Order: sequence, then C-alpha cells, then structure tokens
Amino acid sequence: PDTVRLLSSSQVITSVLNVVKELMENSLDAGASSVDIKLENYGLDRVEVRDNGHGIKAADTPVMAVRHFTSKICSHEDLERLETYGFRGEALGSICAVAEVVVTTKTEEDEISTQYTLNSTGEIVSQKPSHLGQGTTVSVLKLFKNLPVRRQYYSSTKKCKEELKKVNELLMAYAIIKPDLRLTLIHNKVVVWQKAKVADHRSALIATLGPSTVANLLPCHHHQEQPEIVLEGFFPKPGADYSSTSSSNPDKTFIFVNNRPVHQKDVMKLLRQHYTAQYPD
Ligand code: ADP
Ligand code: MG
Repeated sequence: PDTVRLLSSSQVITSVLNVVKELMENSLDAGASSVDIKLENYGLDRVEVRDNGHGIKAADTPVMAVRHFTSKICSHEDLERLETYGFRGEALGSICAVAEVVVTTKTEEDEISTQYTLNSTGEIVSQKPSHLGQGTTVSVLKLFKNLPVRRQYYSSTKKCKEELKKVNELLMAYAIIKPDLRLTLIHNKVVVWQKAKVADHRSALIATLGPSTVANLLPCHHHQEQPEIVLEGFFPKPGADYSSTSSSNPDKTFIFVNNRPVHQKDVMKLLRQHYTAQYPD
C-alpha cells in the first residue's frame, strides 16, 4: 500500500511548480487576500505558502490530508456550481507522501494558532501551540526525498532556474486575475517578485507586466450561460514584438477559464489566432 500511495501521489504532485499551484489555490479557496510564497533551494528544501485566509477548523485538521477529504463540496450538485479551485481532496495528502509537511493554522474562533506535523500518510504525528495570526501556513520540506529520479531532474541549476521562472509566471497569472490579492515570492530570503493589492484588472496587468507590455495587449471577454463559462483572455496585438523578453510565455498570452489560468500551448495558440484575427493592425 505504501508503494501504491507513493506512485499515485507522484502522479498528482509532479514538480515544485505543481506544489506551489496546489498550495496557492488552497489559499485562494480560503479567501486569502495576502499570500507569501517562500522557496529555499528552488523549492527542493522548502516550499512555504502563508496566507491570511479563514484557516482550518480544529475538527477538520485530523482529516485535512486524508485522501479525498475536502471541505469544499458536500454533494454532486456542488460540482456543477464549483466556485473553488480545489474539490478532489488530493493535494495535501499527496504532498505528504513525497515530502515532509507542517501545517500551522488559526481560524477566527481559535485563540492561538496550532502547528501540526504530518506523516507520509497525512496523519498528525505531533502538534503544538504557535504564534502565527489568522490563516494557514503550509511548509513542504525535502520535496521528492523518496523519489530520487524526480529529484535528479532538478540536479542542474539551469532546470532549477527554469522552474523558478515558471513559478513566477504562474503567480503572475493569479496576480492578473485577482487584482485585490497581495503576493510575494521569496527565494533564499531574496524577494524575487511582489505585487500589491490593486483596484482592477487593468491595474493588475500593469503592476504585473509593466505599462509598455499592457499597451500592446488585447483584452477579450466571453461569457456563456448554462453551463456558465467565463473566458478572459489577454493577447498580444498582431505585430507586437516581445522577442527581447526571455520567458517561458514569450507570446504574453494569458487565458483564464472561470478564473483558472490555462496553460495548454495548443489552446492558447488557437484562441490567440481566433481573437487577434478580428483585430485590424
Ligand atoms: P481540496 O483543495 O481539493 O479540498 P486539498 O488536499 O488541497 O484538497 O486540501 C484539503 C483540505 O484542507 C481542504 O479542503 C481544506 O479544508 C483544507 N486546507 C488546505 N489548505 C488550506 C488553506 N490554505 N486554508 C484553509 N484550508 C485549507
Ligand atoms: Mg486543494
């Protein structure tokens, strides 16, 4: 059973980027308006995500990392009007199988925060009072310690730097779609990137990409009812040249479906072609 758990967890948790994404989405689901992401050694030694969200109720903590536990949906109908990023209850438990996890949390009702140390099956092995404010901090230590091949993937500095860049770009996507969110990314105690709370999408775009890039972006919006689908896109105007900016998203295309950043290259290309074709240059 340990091998099965490790194998299926390694399918869910595939990279540093993926750990940051899962923790980030949990923070957003918790209603956080401020999220701090700290990495050490490109996330391999530590990924820590701290939020000021609603925290985890004491009654939920024993099961928070149990496979398929989720506090976010109660019935099948809930799935049809999904307003949270998470609903499978898979992330936290899977991270426990491939790293050491410590969760510190405090709800509005709690007088003080509590720090929980979890084991590889997601059970609490110890807990102690802590001093953090309202919200949740998840620390992921020694990622992929038991998956040497996956760890090997990060053995070159080049790969590590690419991964850090991808993490940064993922955070930029959330920054754009969530203007009122405050975000910081810290690597080895150095602030790599940060974004303050701003008033609207346009200000968020400018804060994230800079005014000159934004001047060359074409915003697109599409709303469909039943089932409700909101597509939000920012595409470079035809002829805009970003060749000087090194990035894993050189086309500066940002697409969100129901607030979720979309990264599939072929989907991005198709939508970019569709929307920019109508635009006279
Ligand atoms: P899911 O997000 O699909 O519900 P996860 O494994 O990511 O599953 O998280 C399990 C549960 O742990 C969540 O449903 C939630 O109750 C709790 N949780 C995890 N992270 C946070 C957080 N940052 N703030 C509040 N609750 C959290
Ligand atoms: Mg989740």
